[in-house]
Amino acid sequence: MGICKNLFTESDIVQLTQDLIRIPSDWNQPERERQVLDYICSFFDKHGIAYTLQFVEGNRYNIIATHHGTGGGKSLLLNGHVDTVPAYEMDFPPYEAFIKDGFVHGRGSVDMKGAIAAMMMSLVVCKRGNIPLKGDLHFSAVVGEEGSSEGTEALVLGNFKADGAIVGEPSNFDYAIGHRGLVWLEIKVLGKTAHSGVTEQGINAISKAAKLIVELENVLGPRLKQRVNPFTGASVLNFGRIEGGTQPSTVADICKIQLDRRYIPEESTTQVIDEICAVINRLETEDPDFLAELQIMENSKMKELYHVPMITDQNSEIVTSLTKTIREVTGSDPEISTRRGWTDGGLLSSYLNIPTVICGPGDISYSHSKNEKISVQQLVEAVEIYVGTAMKFCGI
Ligand SMILES: [Zn+2]
Repeated sequence: MGICKNLFTESDIVQLTQDLIRIPSDWNQPERERQVLDYICSFFDKHGIAYTLQFVEGNRYNIIATHHGTGGGKSLLLNGHVDTVPAYEMDFPPYEAFIKDGFVHGRGSVDMKGAIAAMMMSLVVCKRGNIPLKGDLHFSAVVGEEGSSEGTEALVLGNFKADGAIVGEPSNFDYAIGHRGLVWLEIKVLGKTAHSGVTEQGINAISKAAKLIVELENVLGPRLKQRVNPFTGASVLNFGRIEGGTQPSTVADICKIQLDRRYIPEESTTQVIDEICAVINRLETEDPDFLAELQIMENSKMKELYHVPMITDQNSEIVTSLTKTIREVTGSDPEISTRRGWTDGGLLSSYLNIPTVICGPGDISYSHSKNEKISVQQLVEAVEIYVGTAMKFCGI
């Protein structure tokens, strides 16, 4: 594509990606994402890009950089998280960011420092080329997505405004316009302890939990199967963990069930919880010995928000601007992926009503993996795609 020609080179974008990978930013780092954030600020300082800091907690902050439009156009937000998962046991040194066979290797390359680099470079390109976008082009570098999404939650609580958003999670330049919401629930089934020789004197929480599981499967199973959104897949429930009792000769007085509930955009968090509570309440009415409490698990909670679904109209302008640009840059038609996991796009889409698309360089199968890597060619294309989309969407 001609538009970015002479405004950046392959080595610019590769070098930037390497620099970002070489600064670890997982939750085991003493200052978490702090060093990579400082790097991004100094990069913007060097290139004369305007940005503001939004403090999230302690000294962790989001960076919001902007190429200001000339007025009268739509504003576009490019969003990416600067944190990664820890290196764990990778097949190669995680932070050397070496290049081999056309790929930059390292933790965070695909998820998602490559996209972060491309978004940063997009602002530089707009600046260097004096590209007269009508609307503003924003880039938010957010913290904590691999944790509880505290960075994008802060954007939402600060009521960030944009007319469209791209979340640069790896998609191989296919794209997603929807994904399910999720909530993790724990149900504590309560019984009464007794010696196993006189079981009738106790209430067995394990047996009651078994009854509840069967009931939830019978009642919700068929209902959930019918709830399918073409862009997110079906509504599902998974029992992920169960724990109860102390030893064989004691009647168990407690049994905990942990479940993961993925729900479609047509459902809500409250509805999902109410539906399970209704089954619990009915069992409590039918069986005086049945007692259970349900709560949202701590590690599924944000400060104020929920892991809500994302859904964007297929014909919305951000989708058409992006898909057209992908076609121009890569020469092939992007496909809609309907099996996306949860992303920060849920928050932008559901709470801020910003039409949002997930699209970024790199193959998601390398994400969090032992051999995480990103293609150099896709890094270059990502800059062209983000800039080209901004030109179409924000107007020139
Ligand atoms: Zn990610």
